[in-house]
Amino acid sequence: MTDQIICHLKNSDHILITTHTNPDGDAIGSLIAMGLSLDKLNKKTTLYNESSIPAVYRFLPSVDRIVKNINPINTYDTAIILDCGDLQRIGTLSSIVQQIPVIINIDHHITNTRFGDLHLIDTSSCAATEIVYRLIKKMAIPINKAIATSIYTGILTDTGSFRFSNTNKAAFKICDEMVAIGVDPYKVAQHVYGTYSLSRIKLLNLALDSLEISYNGKLSMMTLTQKMLDETGTHPEDIDGLINYARIEDVKVAVLIQENSNGKVAPEDRKLFHVSLRSDGTVDVAAIAYFFGGGGHFSAAGFSIESTLSDLKHRIIQLSEIL
Ligand code: 5GP
Ligand code: MN
Repeated sequence: MTDQIICHLKNSDHILITTHTNPDGDAIGSLIAMGLSLDKLNKKTTLYNESSIPAVYRFLPSVDRIVKNINPINTYDTAIILDCGDLQRIGTLSSIVQQIPVIINIDHHITNTRFGDLHLIDTSSCAATEIVYRLIKKMAIPINKAIATSIYTGILTDTGSFRFSNTNKAAFKICDEMVAIGVDPYKVAQHVYGTYSLSRIKLLNLALDSLEISYNGKLSMMTLTQKMLDETGTHPEDIDGLINYARIEDVKVAVLIQENSNGKVAPEDRKLFHVSLRSDGTVDVAAIAYFFGGGGHFSAAGFSIESTLSDLKHRIIQLSEIL
């Protein structure tokens, strides 16, 4: 399939490259790495994401090329969808993007639906950036420092700094090569982990305060409401990583409920929530997320749901009984 994808890309003219809403380091890293590499093939590209880029990733090279609007859909002959288990993950434009003649699906999620026409799906890859790295290599495009920084950041963040269960040999091997090309690990770490705003630290305080543990101690749950974001002045895109504070000794599944800020309020206090799930490696949270209409990886998954907060919390706490 890789050869077919390369052949198609070489014959493409105008390519839309996109990733999931609320992008993380892997989504943004793979988007930029792919875009900068296709520049070398003299391809016209649009790098699109529906959401704002989290402050900690705004240091990435060419990050300003990521736009929130696309050209008329009929001007694209190809779409590359990165780090998305399903096409809906790209957000409100998913049905429009579907009209692009050829869709290339590049992903590492276990729940990937195999949408699109050409697939590069490898669930053993630690990050979408690992797959993009291999594709760039196969295309014989030289990896410069800008591309290397994007790849390094994607792998660093998706493996939780080489701590999560998806950390594989390739993570170290590729990052070693990226450092040899000129990436400064300290500088990247400073940007990604050392530049948290005061508002985020205040939000962390509220998040920790919201922590609830199921009676059997196997499930932890934190809740972030829109009010908390407003009170602390935190942008919704800047909460990435807070769930890791709910990973507590003996807890098998950590949950973070985030109220969505899109202002859509349904009747009877129902609101839209995003729920993030992390497991200690013994529970398949992708299966739980899938049950709720989402997806992800064995140890990190998520879903969006419309509910009242109390109903949602009740359903989640009940999950502890099957753990
Ligand atoms: P997070 O909890 O950080 O939003 O996401 C954890 C993992 O689950 C990520 O790999 C993400 O792509 C995936 N994920 C989160 N939300 C959804 C969702 O609504 N649908 C699908 N298919 N995957 C999701
Ligand atoms: Mn990823």
